Amino acid sequence: QQAALLGPADVRRLAEELDIRPTKKLGQNFVHDPNTVRRIVSSASVTADDVVLEIGPGLGSLTLALLPAAGAVTAVEIDPVLAARLPRTAAEFAPGLADRLTVIEADALRVRAEDFPAPPTALVANLPYNVAVPVVLHLLAELPSLEHGLVMVQAEVADRMSAQPGSRVYGVPSVKAAWYADVRRAGPVPRKVFWPVPNVDSGLVSFRRVEPPSSARREDVFRVVDAAFAQRRKALRGALSGWAGSAARAEELLRAAGVDPMTRGEQLRVADFARIAELAAEDR
Ligand code: SAM
Repeated sequence: QQAALLGPADVRRLAEELDIRPTKKLGQNFVHDPNTVRRIVSSASVTADDVVLEIGPGLGSLTLALLPAAGAVTAVEIDPVLAARLPRTAAEFAPGLADRLTVIEADALRVRAEDFPAPPTALVANLPYNVAVPVVLHLLAELPSLEHGLVMVQAEVADRMSAQPGSRVYGVPSVKAAWYADVRRAGPVPRKVFWPVPNVDSGLVSFRRVEPPSSARREDVFRVVDAAFAQRRKALRGALSGWAGSAARAEELLRAAGVDPMTRGEQLRVADFARIAELAAEDR
């Protein structure tokens, strides 16, 4: 079964009907290009076995493209007007598939595993840009059932999330995302596919979950990561001195972990941060 997809005239009509004034605060830029949503769904490798979680469905552009491909779609939308309209849009554009859709009106940063009718296996979303990184990290932590995903975010955020050690843009989002998943940069998305046209470029990021690199506690590891990048230009010996209690102690832990105390955090893989956290925990 197929779904009709939203083109520019449909987006205009729905926005007028709902009297939508898209807000920057909620990152409301709606896709009005069927080819873009088709490309997202095919790159996301969604199958009928997937329960797809979509964050921020908006007017339903991506949701409609997901319905024929997925076994089920759960959409979490914070805007009550948009959340209320979505089931009707699905019935109108994808008759016969609308019963695959569950809409939850909620803040994606606060959803918990028990809020979902079935454990989501894939995240596919055009994310609200100002909260894209915290949303992805929250969902990966909260929903162990999430195995893979493809998200559209601001191009620079896509670069940062998928950056590898040594890269200029490697930082906290890259390391934390790597704790959960193998993250890859996928293609660019031009501004003109959105209404209203945003003033930044967009890009896609795909991920597939991996085992955590160590048995260290995630919170402990993330504390080391935050400390290392809070003073990103500093050598780790200095950057981690506050976290460790002293520069000498930081140096001792770094050497024990096999890390040169004079390197910077941007050179370390997530497994290195985990090793440092593990050694510090062992001594406590
Ligand atoms: N998926 C739609 C599309 O591609 O046209 C809309 C994407 S738009 C970039 C982001 C959407 O996320 C908006 O519908 C906005 O209301 C919603 N949103 C913003 N913050 C949110 C949050 N914290 N939780 C859930 N949805 C949110």
